[in-house]
Amino acid sequence: YIYIFLNCLDASRSWLCYWILHSLELLEEPVPTSIASDVCKFLARCQSPTGGFAGGPGQAAHLAPTYAAVNALCIIGTQEAYNVIDREKLLSFLFSVKQPDGSFVMHGGGEVDVRSAYCAASVASLTNIMTPTLFQDTPTWIVSCQNWEGGLGGVPGLEAHGGYTFCGTAAMVILGKEHMLDLKTLLRWVASRQMRFEGGFQGRCNKLVDGCYSFWQAGLLPLLHRALFKEGDSTLSLQKWMFEQQALQEYILLCCQNTAGGLLDKPGKSRDFYHTCYCLSGLSVAQHFGNMDLHHELIVGQEENRLAPSHPVYNICPEKVAQAIQHFHQLSVPTPNT
Ligand SMILES: [Zn+2]
Repeated sequence: YIYIFLNCLDASRSWLCYWILHSLELLEEPVPTSIASDVCKFLARCQSPTGGFAGGPGQAAHLAPTYAAVNALCIIGTQEAYNVIDREKLLSFLFSVKQPDGSFVMHGGGEVDVRSAYCAASVASLTNIMTPTLFQDTPTWIVSCQNWEGGLGGVPGLEAHGGYTFCGTAAMVILGKEHMLDLKTLLRWVASRQMRFEGGFQGRCNKLVDGCYSFWQAGLLPLLHRALFKEGDSTLSLQKWMFEQQALQEYILLCCQNTAGGLLDKPGKSRDFYHTCYCLSGLSVAQHFGNMDLHHELIVGQEENRLAPSHPVYNICPEKVAQAIQHFHQLSVPTPNT
């Protein structure tokens, strides 16, 4: 196990912090102060001297671990955690990966895909470093990733995929441009990804159900519900999302749990922190409809199955989002030195 860990997950250590901290906040399990402080110190070592975070100390900054590290620090939510983030350098890192067509590369010299736009928009909005030019042309580029199936591919012309569709749609919500997507074909595509026998979601057409798509796919329904509500759709339910919330909970609870703890892709697969985080995140979406003002719960099984609600865009608990935004919005937006 250690051999696999060192080889495969050494560049995912910022992600491990986020996956574990988010799983614990959904389970409403407090993190001891000393451990939270150790995580802050560890993530500080993952921050690149030129801005942004890497998967581990001494590695190159990359948008995916930058998203994971900022989310992890916002979950911890202490002054020490917020102070880890060098916002000025983070902004120059984001400009360094921005492309002229509005897209972002994942890291210097790396590949373009729609995950990067979400990671950039998520960290920039949470830490209040959005500038007028940072996301110029990004919405138009994201829209070009939506294909004839209705979902989004990683780049224009690719097959629609749950993870990319969530990232593209959530980025559009952050940028306030979700109306530019074809919301109705997107809704039809994602609703058709919940499988009628298993109750879980597949990531792409004709693929097998996988527990992690409980979040990447089902997590689209709250985003779509709000986007359609904003457009004045009067036929929307005030009680439930547009997927079978009960069937998804049954799939996660009955098919995705390891009896020794942790969650997984499907029966027969081994547990891991990624699937634990995203199965729990999907379970939370399926349990909680609405927001603070209008909240409707549907808990399958015992009351102890209830998880905390999660923010539909950032996938951390809503109080932690509000707290981070409140903290960082007292600070001024750094001036980009590009
Ligand atoms: Zn998976």
